[in-house]
Amino acid sequence: MTGGPQPGQPKRGKDEQFLIESLTPNFGHFIRVSELLYEGQTEFQKIELFDSPQFGKALRLDNVFQTSAGDEYFYHEMMVHPALITHPNPERVLIIGAGDGGMAEEALKHNTVREVVMVEIDGQVVDFSKKYLGDIHRGAFDDPRMQLVIGDGYQWVMEAAERGEHFDAVILDLTDPIGPSRPLYTVEYYAAIARLIGHTGIHVQHLENPVTRKELFAQLVANVRAVYHHVHPLLQYVPLYGTLWSFCNASQTLDPRGMSPVQVESRIRARGLTDLQVYNGDTHRAAYALPNFVRTLMDSDAQPIHLNQIERFDAITAVSESTDHLRIIVGGDSPQR
Ligand code: SAM
Repeated sequence: MTGGPQPGQPKRGKDEQFLIESLTPNFGHFIRVSELLYEGQTEFQKIELFDSPQFGKALRLDNVFQTSAGDEYFYHEMMVHPALITHPNPERVLIIGAGDGGMAEEALKHNTVREVVMVEIDGQVVDFSKKYLGDIHRGAFDDPRMQLVIGDGYQWVMEAAERGEHFDAVILDLTDPIGPSRPLYTVEYYAAIARLIGHTGIHVQHLENPVTRKELFAQLVANVRAVYHHVHPLLQYVPLYGTLWSFCNASQTLDPRGMSPVQVESRIRARGLTDLQVYNGDTHRAAYALPNFVRTLMDSDAQPIHLNQIERFDAITAVSESTDHLRIIVGGDSPQR
């Protein structure tokens, strides 16, 4: 058989090679990459930009693919629009992380939105994205409604809650709950966000993938449920991630499942949303339809993780981190999501 994954990193230049991204030590997928366009190390993480026949430009942080020009809409549209369409009049939106600008670009499509505050810890990811990822942010950083803050999203939210700030929607687009991003997945953080959005707002985050990271999915649901009355996962296949992915809408009052396809289509028109590749009235309704195994995960007995227990995340994520034997097989570089 020819054309299968080969070990090693693509070399700078035109050599065609494959990158393997593992979901577990036993399963993953490969992406043919034609060129390593950029590689660098920031204070916080390693950045790489690849060109690929399937997805065009694709961004990796710390060896994990984050987004690509060719498939970014699967992730960004379904993170942003189901929540903002469910909210009757989203005006102020807070985005944490999301340095590539794709989330802000989708939020700014809503004509009700008058301000997007985006807090990203790594200014170099933003600078890099402004320069190389125009196909993803499409000028969002230059929109006059956009306010960019370079800083820690944990501290910023805590202080904003103390100041009594209000947002209609808060979107967490973070790296996985490994290492420094763990506090941003705890009950205390979610409680501060709940103060920012009050009774009428909506909280959005990803929940990892419920296929190969079942325990982490169940844990994140338990953490969000510790704070909100309505917690509704939605599912979307994301090609770059090689699996079904899950997001979560949480609120004290808003239930996105109450929106009929006709109501969704009507709001899409009223908000002036254009250039949607995935999101419509039918996909809104379908995204909240959960298979039985996901329902079962939602009813797990996972106990919520508090700030003083963040090491509990390590035991859960270690299952997919223990890929040493796989590293040997793929030649020393086995990124994983
Ligand atoms: N869509 C992506 C995924 O799940 O694959 C996430 C994309 S986004 C590029 C993740 C961003 O979160 C990174 O740019 C990272 O710098 C940022 N981030 C991580 N921890 C953060 C924190 N404490 N405050 C603000 N931003 C943070």
